[in-house]
Amino acid sequence: MNKLISILATLALLLTSTSCSSDDNEGPSRDHDITASFSMLNHVYDQSAKQAGPLTTEETSFTLHRAAIDKMNVDLTLRVTVAKGDTRNIKLTGVPVKYDEATGRYTINAATTADNSISDLNGTIDFNESAMLLDYTVDGHYRVMATQPQVFYTKSNSVLTYSDNTSFADNAAVYQFDIDPKTMTATFTLGGLLVSQIDTKFTTIKSEGIKITVTQDGYTLAADKPKTISKYKHGETFTDGPVEATQWRCTKCGHVFDDPIKPTACTSCNNPEATFVRVDQLFPITGFQATISLKDHTHNTTFTMGDALQGINPFKVNAHGNVY
Ligand SMILES: [Zn+2]
Repeated sequence: MNKLISILATLALLLTSTSCSSDDNEGPSRDHDITASFSMLNHVYDQSAKQAGPLTTEETSFTLHRAAIDKMNVDLTLRVTVAKGDTRNIKLTGVPVKYDEATGRYTINAATTADNSISDLNGTIDFNESAMLLDYTVDGHYRVMATQPQVFYTKSNSVLTYSDNTSFADNAAVYQFDIDPKTMTATFTLGGLLVSQIDTKFTTIKSEGIKITVTQDGYTLAADKPKTISKYKHGETFTDGPVEATQWRCTKCGHVFDDPIKPTACTSCNNPEATFVRVDQLFPITGFQATISLKDHTHNTTFTMGDALQGINPFKVNAHGNVY
């Protein structure tokens, strides 16, 4: 599944325009170079001082030379701030690249560069996901692990534990963390989560203002009660966006009334015992915590959803997954 927000639609177009003339079934036509650029979120860790450096978003551009399949290479222009006031502009030419037909990914690999400014360079360019990953060491001790500011995870396994202690596993959800280095907060977006017990399919759950901490291998994210909006399909009813406080929910059948005044009877289920709770946010998120490893390309995310006062018994979500 593609990531939720396409960050470089032009790359997808580029791929479309070059993928139809293959005569050897070896992927996109390679008769011309690809020049593109990505906005990279540079995670820097000083391995000598054992401390995280500044988190910055900087541009990386490249030209991918694809003419000969056994001699593919890339010219890279990296910009990275390794320490406060120390921004490097690094140009690398002719770095070896391999193309994997099965995944459609280009992998970059170089033990050292000609001028020894960089070592242990590994990277991936994935036009299908509009994604680029880079991992390299500057001056022998600044380890840089660069992703897009939208760090996303497919192949996640989400385990939901309900209030009656039964659980349900969903393998289709996609997790994304939009990281803003300026505010050191993240927006968490979860797409396609099925909550089986209440027959609700969340197309989107989005939480804002989650605090980020930079760690040696990645990030930790935490928020007690992040501001959350959800889009979901409950039974046959779609709910698009945040539910306003002028709505009331029947505690018997779950029907939501759009009315600033509390209803006296439920016209949906006709149950005389029906009571109503004011709907502010049926599915608030609490206790959000996530650990992201850029080294292992994994995330581990936990949070609680629902509010008993609004008729939804809270349930726990625990998820882990891989980028590739
Ligand atoms: Zn009702």
